[in-house]
Amino acid sequence: MVLRIGSLDESAESLDHESTWLLGHTQYISFGAPRTSGKDLLVDAVLHVRCRYLKAGDTPGAARCAAHGFHGPLPPRTRGVEQPRRLGGDRFRVVSAQAMTELELKFPPRALPVVELDEENPCSIAPCETADHKRGSACCRDLQVEMMCRKGDEQLEPLIRSRQSPYLCKIAREADDAIEAEMISACGYLDEPGENCTLHGRYRPDGRTAKPDLCSEWPPKGKGMHPGCIFAPPPVKKAKKGASDSTAAPKAVQPDLVESS
Ligand code: SF4
Ligand code: SF4
Repeated sequence: MVLRIGSLDESAESLDHESTWLLGHTQYISFGAPRTSGKDLLVDAVLHVRCRYLKAGDTPGAARCAAHGFHGPLPPRTRGVEQPRRLGGDRFRVVSAQAMTELELKFPPRALPVVELDEENPCSIAPCETADHKRGSACCRDLQVEMMCRKGDEQLEPLIRSRQSPYLCKIAREADDAIEAEMISACGYLDEPGENCTLHGRYRPDGRTAKPDLCSEWPPKGKGMHPGCIFAPPPVKKAKKGASDSTAAPKAVQPDLVESS
């Protein structure tokens, strides 16, 4: 599978951020090295998501295909090789100048450690969840991917569309040569309990922030927030029947705020 990272029309700095973000989501994606093709920055990738027609067979260890009726041993899950992004201490693997590079990413020397230690990351205590009903750090455990797949490709498109939901879902053709989808694959920059971003507050040696800038962008108009997001407005109580205008509850705003992304 080939994923599109971004356009070469963007600045080199912006592409570094987008590449670091995408290639950080290593839980169920194995990445190759970024490469250019025409005006695009691409990356070869293996998505470790099973086919939705693969079902357990009648005996332990057996499997069957619910689409074609084949029978056989249940194939082991694929995972690919380890792709460490956190190397210990201040050392990380991030994308720099379109290549995965080991860098020392430090906190600024004049940081206020007392303030930092006292600050609680609100996301670390949020009951938010991804579509597989796993709780916590939902924004760092799923992502949107753009897969290079030509319209009319009779092999690749059915393969993409038959993956197991919600691990790969919301599949939509956005262009003649690309399909967009949502995928669950946690980011390798999350700390061990999976609560905090280990790049947060760190800087690259050239002074740029280590954390990809798109991680700090809010979804447009708050759309696509995860259920349980700590930043979602509380549900608006319904007005009681017969209540006068002065006591009626205000109209509900942005009901799509609690949609699953
Ligand atoms: S905030 Fe950090 S952990 Fe979350 S997706 Fe971005 S880089 Fe990964
Ligand atoms: S869904 Fe909300 S609480 Fe959860 S990680 Fe995202 S922003 Fe934080």
